[in-house]
Amino acid sequence: MKIVVTGGAGFIGSHIVDRLVEEGHEVVVVDNLSSGRRELVNKSAEFHVRDLKERDWGVGIRGDVVFHFAANPEVRISTTEPSVHFNENVLATFNVLEWARQTGVRTVVFASSSTVYGDAQVLPTPEEEPLRPISVYGAAKAAGEIMCGTYARLYGIRCLAIRYANIVGPRLRHGVIYDFIMKLKKNPNVLEVLGDGTQRKSYLYIKDAVDATLLAWRKFEEMGEPFLALNVGNVDAVRVLDIAQIVAEVLGLKPEIKLIPTTPDGRGWPGDVKYMTLSINKLLKLTGWKPAMTSAEAVRKTAEDLAGELWR
Ligand code: NAD
Repeated sequence: MKIVVTGGAGFIGSHIVDRLVEEGHEVVVVDNLSSGRRELVNKSAEFHVRDLKERDWGVGIRGDVVFHFAANPEVRISTTEPSVHFNENVLATFNVLEWARQTGVRTVVFASSSTVYGDAQVLPTPEEEPLRPISVYGAAKAAGEIMCGTYARLYGIRCLAIRYANIVGPRLRHGVIYDFIMKLKKNPNVLEVLGDGTQRKSYLYIKDAVDATLLAWRKFEEMGEPFLALNVGNVDAVRVLDIAQIVAEVLGLKPEIKLIPTTPDGRGWPGDVKYMTLSINKLLKLTGWKPAMTSAEAVRKTAEDLAGELWR
């Protein structure tokens, strides 16, 4: 099968590409290398440097399935520069769907996010909870899901939206674990923690995320629904202060922890969801998938992985 992976030079996308290649698929990577890295693109994949914000990005590119993973994943940027997220996450997704419609793609697997729920009333949050994002990033993902669902019902392109928790592991270059390591590299004596440190969220190791994504996709291909949204994450969570502790321990440091208040209710930044865990019952029922690592194990293993990559 020919599979196009947008964002295949980035963190999650490159791991997905490696697995698809391993499984014998013909893989085409599309990435503009804005945050992705050429060296992460699997040598057996065809690689096109293209910008999905361009209407004609897909000229000459064909696939049976597209994994649409390209995006700007930084929630903080979406608060300070909403237009970046409109362009990278809404317009780019629209352009991918248009290309899919025009070239006869059968299935779109869309990288959505737990941020579509906003401050959810129910934790762990099931897929049926309303989408009430509190960040422009979350809104862009919700808009992407709604567009995907509409293209599925209107044009017959089937769409699986995966609502990821925080996915972590080797090659990651954003998010709290990466930020802490980079801050400690600059100053090993003090670690600034944004918010009140009690933010508590679900973390999932990349191998678990790739396993879940591919199991979900294969199951979806056997099903009749035009559109399906599935959570992929851990049902347990870790506090930001505990992440600070784990990262410091892994690096063999004892920094002074300095809390930096940013919102009156202790969030990391405006638009940050403070508490997030996801119900994975739907995916469990469909595929039997369960994470192999807890949130805390995923954070520790990632701190070790990234220390190996960055702590020189
Ligand atoms: P990443 O930044 O490592 O990867 C994104 C990739 O998309 C990069 O290689 C970048 O160069 C590419 N890209 C960005 N804009 C592009 C454009 N206009 N045209 C072509 N390529 C472009 O991020 P990631 O963590 O691997 O995230 C992958 C996907 O998963 C994203 O859609 C993200 O929103 C989603 N997601 C990630 C997480 C997480 O915790 N990592 C959680 C929820 C959802």
